[in-house]
Amino acid sequence: MSRCHNFSAGPAVLPLSVIEQLQQALPDFQGTGLGLMELSHRSAAFDAVHRSAEERLRRVLSIPDDYRVLFLQGGASLQFHMIPLNLLRADESADFVVTGTWAKKAHAEAVRIRQAQAIWDAAETNYDRLPASVTPSPGATYLHYCSNNTIFGTQFPDALDVDVPLVCDMSSDICSRPVDVSRHAVVFAGAQKNLGPSGVTAVILSPWAMQRAPGGLPPMLDYQLQVDKRGLFNTPNTFGIYALERVLAWVEESGGLDAIAAQNEAKAQALYGEIDRTPFWTGHAERTVRSQMNVAFRSPSAQLDAAFVAEADAAGLKGLKGHRSVGGLRASIYNACGVDSVGALVAFMQDFSARNG
Ligand code: PMP
Repeated sequence: MSRCHNFSAGPAVLPLSVIEQLQQALPDFQGTGLGLMELSHRSAAFDAVHRSAEERLRRVLSIPDDYRVLFLQGGASLQFHMIPLNLLRADESADFVVTGTWAKKAHAEAVRIRQAQAIWDAAETNYDRLPASVTPSPGATYLHYCSNNTIFGTQFPDALDVDVPLVCDMSSDICSRPVDVSRHAVVFAGAQKNLGPSGVTAVILSPWAMQRAPGGLPPMLDYQLQVDKRGLFNTPNTFGIYALERVLAWVEESGGLDAIAAQNEAKAQALYGEIDRTPFWTGHAERTVRSQMNVAFRSPSAQLDAAFVAEADAAGLKGLKGHRSVGGLRASIYNACGVDSVGALVAFMQDFSARNG
């Protein structure tokens, strides 16, 4: 078996030890004689997995006991709709900090059904920066932000400091560093970067959010009903939830979020160190708000960018093409992207810049 260095933005690299555990569970899950994908979602075996996934997420993120945790389908994108549907009444409005594509899409979904304001938008500079602070509009019911911009490579250092309930799209940096969940009304994340495969979305709901959710909505979209049924209103992604449970076990075995964050910081420093070492490379994001998860950069020309992607691919460094809305190059270095992968990329960049500079 030969595994390449995977810098894909998502679905993204998972720990090999987790993939091997999944492989083992496929034909016979823990001696049940039934394969992982063949287990009933109502079985005792799956119930134990489901509960353990929730317990681990609660432990890893220090989620307050009175918050609810769901593993839903529909991706982070469905939460763009479910959040305003459940939290906003017809005469109310929410604020959006538009720091990139995903916050913009979330705002667009909210506007489709409710009132919503973009109180900050960095489109003019192609989302290379973040606001130092934001002022919610008077009477805003909640404020939506995206902690890490997967495409443009910017990341807030911390939860926003505002006095309205905060909704955070943590899809691309959940469990990459400690975070104060208790400062949020809702946290959600598609699993396919730091938590597991696509097809599972972690949704964390505060008592405030649960109180606001009116109930009586179409069942799949109804937080009250989904919480009442513990996310088992219909058949959940059983495979994905087991994978997520195993990834969280790996996070805990790796020393938890402090240890993971230290490693993520070291990886990001190595990569940005190379970008800053020579004028050959240009980083997209302003230095003070650089993401530790998605590093967006470019070489001196679009032709060299294309050559870089092709040569890197041939050398076993995969997924380095920048998103079409920013161009250039992007290295996603999520939790499971090892120090060795980042080292290999830095060495390749040094060689490439020496040959083409
Ligand atoms: N938010 C962020 C920050 C993302 O990076 C993505 C996907 N890359 C999404 C939302 C959309 O996620 P999904 O595909 O799970 O709907």
